Amino acid sequence: MIYEVTTLEEFQRIKKNGGGFIAITDSKLVNTRGNRVHKVSCYTVKEKDFIQKVETNNKTNGEYFFTDDYKETMSKFKNMSECKICLKQKNKLTKSKYLFSVEV
Ligand SMILES: [Zn+2]
Repeated sequence: MIYEVTTLEEFQRIKKNGGGFIAITDSKLVNTRGNRVHKVSCYTVKEKDFIQKVETNNKTNGEYFFTDDYKETMSKFKNMSECKICLKQKNKLTKSKYLFSVEV
């Protein structure tokens, strides 16, 4: 399951819950970061960046996705790479035990 995160409320709920992964796409490859997948708990996944990308810029240069399946995310998006910070931690390939369903 890959779910697009479109509102700040959803983003906050996902961060508060803490499980799963966040994939952030970046069509302009700002700072050569490209598309990255993070654990939701990664400290570089910030509310202010979500607001800027999704609300302020209206997703013109990227979007946020929540998923419980890291591998599916890596195969769905091209040029998706791991966050070098958070996914080095152990259990990086296991599914989240804390999956919840996001209310649409
Ligand atoms: Zn990260």
